[in-house]
Amino acid sequence: MAGSRFLMVGAGLSGAVIGRHLAEAGHDVSVVDARAHIGGNCHTERDPETGVLVHVYGPHIFHTDDAEVWDYVNAYQTFLPYKNRVKATTGGAVYSLPVNLHTINQFFGKTMRPDEARAFITEEQADTSIAEPQSFEEQAMRFVGRDLYEAFFKGYTIKQWGVQPAELPASILKRLPVRFNYDDNYFFHRFQGMPEHGYTDMIAKILDHPRIEVQLETVFDRAQAGDYAHVFYSGPLDGWFDYELGRLGYRTLDFERFTYDGDYQGCAVMNYGEESVPYTRITEHKHFAPWESHEGSVCYREFSRACTPEDIPYYPIRQVREKALLNDYVALAEQEPGVTFVGRLGTYRYLDMDVTIREALDTARGFLDDRAAGRTP
Ligand code: FAD
Ligand code: UDP
Repeated sequence: MAGSRFLMVGAGLSGAVIGRHLAEAGHDVSVVDARAHIGGNCHTERDPETGVLVHVYGPHIFHTDDAEVWDYVNAYQTFLPYKNRVKATTGGAVYSLPVNLHTINQFFGKTMRPDEARAFITEEQADTSIAEPQSFEEQAMRFVGRDLYEAFFKGYTIKQWGVQPAELPASILKRLPVRFNYDDNYFFHRFQGMPEHGYTDMIAKILDHPRIEVQLETVFDRAQAGDYAHVFYSGPLDGWFDYELGRLGYRTLDFERFTYDGDYQGCAVMNYGEESVPYTRITEHKHFAPWESHEGSVCYREFSRACTPEDIPYYPIRQVREKALLNDYVALAEQEPGVTFVGRLGTYRYLDMDVTIREALDTARGFLDDRAAGRTP
C-alpha cells in the first residue's frame, strides 16, 4: 500500500527544491541518490591537495533574470559577484569570448568602432546569404561570418557534439551573444554570481529540514515506487522505462585533472577553437572563487565523447532521432501513475540551474494545489 511519504529520486537541485517545498508544507520526504554526495551535477568539493573549491562535473556559473529564483538561492547561500569572462585560444592567439568588439578588432587586425564593426560583420555575412538559419552552421555563419565561425565555433562544436555543425539545430548557438562593444560578460542576465561556499553547501542547506531524510549511494528500484504517496523522479526518462523504446542520446565528458604551482592560465575558462586540440576547454577552478587565495591550482582538461550506458549523461543531443524517441517516451510518461518526471534527465532537456529551480518550484506548487483540489496528479 502507498505510504504517506514522498520520494525524490535524485539529490540534485530538482530533488532538493521540490523536497524542501513539500517538507515545508508538512509532508515527510525521502531523498535517494545513487552517488556518494548530494548536489547532482552542480556538486562542488574542496580538492584535498590544493584546498581549491572544484566544480566536479564541469564549470557552473549562476545567472538568471528570475527575481524569485535569485531570492531563493540567496536565502540559502551568500552569492558573491562573479562575471563569466571566457577566453579562447585559436590560430596561435588568445581572444575574448563571447565574440565582442575586442575579438573582432583583434582577429581582423583593425581598430573599428561599433558601427564600423557591425557593417564589417554584415559584409562578412553577405557571402553566406542565409535568410532563415536552420542549422548551427547556418546560424553561426549568419551571426559572425565564415572566418570567425571557422576560428571559434566549427572545431569546438565538432569536438563538443561529435557531429558536423550542419547537422545540429540552430538553437544551440542562440544561447551565445555577439556584441559590438567591449562587454565581455558571457551572459546577459540581471543577476549573476557564485555561491560563497559552493553549490553543494547551498543544496545541503536546502535539504536541511526535519521532515527530509537523505540516503546516498542508493539506487532507486522502481519496485519501491508503490511504497510512496508519489515519486518525483530526476533520473533519466528512458531509464524509468528500462529503455524499452531505445536509448535517448547524450554526450558525456571526461575530465583530466592536473595541478599547477601558481596560476596556470590566468582565467577560469579557456576554450580551444581548433579541432586539432583534442579537448574543448580547460577550467582552472580557483578563478571561480576570486575571494579565496590558494598557492596551488587545480585544472580540468575537458573532453567530450559519445555516452555509453556506463557513463554519466551530460548533454542531451536532441537531434531529429532523439526528438522522435523523446515524444514516444513523453507519451508513456503521461500514462504513468504516481510519478512526476522532473529536471535535466527526467525531461531530457538542457536546463540551466535557474530554470531547474523555477520548474521545481512550479512543479511542487502545482502538485500541492492539485492535491488540495482533490485532483490526483
Ligand atoms: P542532476 O544534477 O543531474 O541531478 C540528478 C541526480 O539524480 C544525480 O545526482 C543522479 O545521481 C541522481 N539519480 C539519477 N538516477 C538515479 C537513480 N535511478 N537512483 C538514484 N539516484 C539517481 N547551469 C547553469 O545555470 N550554469 C552553468 O554554468 C551550467 N554549467 C553546466 C555545465 C555542464 C558541463 C553541465 C552538464 C550542466 C551545466 N549546467 C549549468 C546545468 C546544471 O548542471 C543543471 O541545471 C542541474 O544540474 C540540474 O539539476 P537536476 O537536479 O535536474 O539534475
Ligand atoms: N561554442 C563554440 N565555441 C566556443 C563556445 C561555444 O563553438 O568557444 C558552441 C558549442 O557548440 C556549444 C554552444 O556554442 O555547445 C553553446 O555554448 P555554451 O558556452 O552555452 O556551452 P555549454 O555551457 O552548453 O557547454
